Amino acid sequence: MKWGLFGGTFDPIHMGHLRCAVEVREIFDLDRIIFIPAAQQPLKTDKKVTPFHHREQMVKLAVEANPPFSVSDIENLRGGKSYSIDTVKHFLTASPEGLELYFIMGQDAFQDIHRWKEWEQLLLLCNFIVVTRPGYEVRKFSDILPEYAAAQFHFDTDAGAFTGPTGGAIYFKRLTFLEISSTDIRNRTKNGQSILYLVPDSVRHYISENALYKDL
Ligand code: ATP
Ligand code: MG
Repeated sequence: MKWGLFGGTFDPIHMGHLRCAVEVREIFDLDRIIFIPAAQQPLKTDKKVTPFHHREQMVKLAVEANPPFSVSDIENLRGGKSYSIDTVKHFLTASPEGLELYFIMGQDAFQDIHRWKEWEQLLLLCNFIVVTRPGYEVRKFSDILPEYAAAQFHFDTDAGAFTGPTGGAIYFKRLTFLEISSTDIRNRTKNGQSILYLVPDSVRHYISENALYKDL
């Protein structure tokens, strides 16, 4: 079994996230992709984030027609700040034996990883898939991580990935570029502009019915 864990604020989930999940699942032949909305994103404390139940509900609506995709409320159940290391440890202990975990993130998130709690340990706990995002081109691995940490990983040409001392790998993948962000969707909604085709229709209706992003 191979599962992808896709964490994010998802305020709201959009076609960029969904297309990324579809392509990653195909490339890595993953059985499931679990979307994990952050309850409290530690690096977004200065920003007003929509309550968890709305963000979770929008992810549910976006993925309900696609059985390999699901939503986990683990970060809300755990309470407090949402740290990926706690989430990965949860899936490693609570899941079937032999399960391989792939943590999915955009290039922008990976470039910030040295600010994440216990990031050095996190990188050794499971596999990582870093996907390109418009505006964040792939940079040399050693340009992102401090030298001592980058030195632990070696490029394995057969795997097409950087493999570390515990066998986990970090893959960099270039997917279909979709220049869509939640920030842009929130701004358009606030300004009364359309978000048609940027998010699934069910999410668009949910935003309008609940008057989300009207006053930011
Ligand atoms: P915001 O603008 O509020 O930061 P966002 O669009 O970046 O929202 P997040 O919830 O912050 O969405 O992102 C969750 C994860 O999805 C991150 O790892 C991010 O890099 C990735 N991601 C977001 N949008 C895209 C996209 N268009 N293409 C590829 N990856 C994306
Ligand atoms: Mg973001």
